Amino acid sequence: MKETVLSGIRPTGNLHLGNYYGAIQNFIRMQHEYNCYFFVADWHSLTTHPHPGDLHGNVKTVLSEYLACGIDPEIATLYIQSDIKEIAELYLLMNMNSYIGELERTTSFKEKVRKQPDNVNAGLLTYPVLMTTDIIIHKANKVPVGKDQEQNIEMARRFARRFNTIYETDYFPEPEGFSFSKNLIKIPGLDGSGKMGKSEGNAINLADDPKTIHKKVMGAVTDAGPTEMNQTPPEAIENLFQLMEVASEPETVVFFREQYAKCAIRYGDLKKQLSADITKLTEPIRERILEIQSDDAYLAKVVNMGAEKARISAAATLKDVREIIGFRTF
Ligand code: AMP
Repeated sequence: MKETVLSGIRPTGNLHLGNYYGAIQNFIRMQHEYNCYFFVADWHSLTTHPHPGDLHGNVKTVLSEYLACGIDPEIATLYIQSDIKEIAELYLLMNMNSYIGELERTTSFKEKVRKQPDNVNAGLLTYPVLMTTDIIIHKANKVPVGKDQEQNIEMARRFARRFNTIYETDYFPEPEGFSFSKNLIKIPGLDGSGKMGKSEGNAINLADDPKTIHKKVMGAVTDAGPTEMNQTPPEAIENLFQLMEVASEPETVVFFREQYAKCAIRYGDLKKQLSADITKLTEPIRERILEIQSDDAYLAKVVNMGAEKARISAAATLKDVREIIGFRTF
């Protein structure tokens, strides 16, 4: 039997090249090898209080963009978290066995307290409980995670284990953090910084049109050029080479690296080439995004199908859990 993988998608902003190479490409491969659940974490997103006028649009954007990248809703179970009310009930039950002290000590909570001191809501505190619920409601074994999420998986393992101990059962498997490829890809930003990110203003989005891509790439941080033969490029320049490595033909990368080594590089030419290669790569995805976004009937079909599949699994778990805890019907 295939192992079950679960991953949440935050409905915040457009997807960028970092998301594509760092996560989505793996999901596309995984969906064929595992029993995959991908969900849009709209309840989670409420901890930062999105404007009511934005919430639906945010969900629609990520959903369309994931579908455009190649997540196949016929193969994977792709659903919206808030469509599955069973998650809310299991979350309530799991909260009873989660302790304030341990929740306050999590790194992600402490970080949020620092970042948004005026909005330290209870949802932030119990975020690891909701995340645990998302995972165990499908009895998922594997959760793709980055380094920063390891502690949350550890919490999920602990909560699952605690449930089993309290109720003297082995009902929930302990989920494992899991990375699809051994070497985690990190896509750099255009601003000379180490990582492309949504909030950094250094990203190329999959939905960017060719003009926007061109403008962003031409504006990427560079320097005055190499002064010695064969010198090691500084971070900002190395970043551009790394972007080329994912977007361009190998010969192109070799050519520009050689030009750099010979002190003959023209950054304008490199950027033009990079912009053209990124556009070639993202243009078909962008076209699909536009197509899917304008097809409300298709999106409705996808989310209904996903909810139906996810609900079957969630309802079966909840039925068992209610019984294990001791709820009985009159
Ligand atoms: P985020 O946009 O931070 O919610 O990230 C969603 C997923 O994309 C996570 O699994 C990240 O590991 C991945 N990701 C985000 N930015 C990058 C990046 N610059 N390089 C590689 N992977 C990334």
